[in-house]
Amino acid sequence: MNPFMPDLVYFEPDALSYPLGQELHRKFSKLGTPIEMTRSHNRITGLPGSSELEKYRIAKRTLVVGVRKTLKFDTSKPSAEYAIPLATGCMGHCHYCYLQTTLGNRPYIRVYVNLDEIFAQAEKYIKERAPEITRFEASCTSDPVGIEHLTGSLKKTIEFMATQPLAQLRFVTKFAHVDSLLDADHRGHTRFRFSVNADYVVKQFEPATSPLADRIEAAKKVSKAGFPLGFIIAPIMIFDGWEEQYEALLRQLAEALPPGRQELTFELITHRYTATAKRLIEERYPKTKLEMNEEERKKKWGRYGRVKYVYQDEQMNAIKEKLPRWIASYFPEAVISYIT
Ligand code: SF4
Repeated sequence: MNPFMPDLVYFEPDALSYPLGQELHRKFSKLGTPIEMTRSHNRITGLPGSSELEKYRIAKRTLVVGVRKTLKFDTSKPSAEYAIPLATGCMGHCHYCYLQTTLGNRPYIRVYVNLDEIFAQAEKYIKERAPEITRFEASCTSDPVGIEHLTGSLKKTIEFMATQPLAQLRFVTKFAHVDSLLDADHRGHTRFRFSVNADYVVKQFEPATSPLADRIEAAKKVSKAGFPLGFIIAPIMIFDGWEEQYEALLRQLAEALPPGRQELTFELITHRYTATAKRLIEERYPKTKLEMNEEERKKKWGRYGRVKYVYQDEQMNAIKEKLPRWIASYFPEAVISYIT
């Protein structure tokens, strides 16, 4: 799978006063990519496409280069204290992706060029929490590795965090294009996580992302480069043969990664959805095989009275019993950060 190249790029005029904005403008002009200007990276109007579905697909191939004005970082539980905003949106087409609902009708990919201002804000948060460590998550609203070959922002963020004794960075990716990050001066402050899943889930529900085997190859390289490594298995799904496939996944990871390496983390998230997500998924991926049958699910009330459909207790217990057992047997040294 080739790294992502947008079909159309928008620039905010202010973005052109930053070095990264200028660099991206030069790059896309040279490549002959159509370039438009926009007053705000939050309001892109007039994207081509004759139906909602076509507009959605085109938006996911559209890059918007802007200045991040809101410098108040969102919180990011449970994996970090704050979300560091480097980008919003993703070129992947994972049917279950939570960005379907969080980005609403703005699925285009926004990248922010005012990195120094974003880092200055991160430094404020670090100082506020000192002497506690502050963890920043870079993949709350995007997959930052998927666009790294265009912006180089993630490498700069890794190197910024390396200079901060009380800061840690983490992100997760489904893309295997990691080579430009391998020589980053990370000083162990960045945990590089890969999102992996059973073969069935990757093949059915994760179009436009790197194949599983490539992600595992990339994880090997990242581990060799000395980054603390982690895997997120999400969403964990129940389907015919799920037990064999998840165990096979862990076996495959264990065969690929050298034993006795530094502490490895696993984060495990079972599949869940809301009624809004279901509606959007069915609109955008009408042929999806994603199982979203409320009658087979248990209701769980979240914040603001929102209902999520999770697996029934019996299925949930099976997942919570089996996955940790397989992880313990293939990776005795690993830590399960959470399972939900
Ligand atoms: Fe969403 Fe991640 Fe898939 Fe991108 S790669 S569509 S962020 S789940």
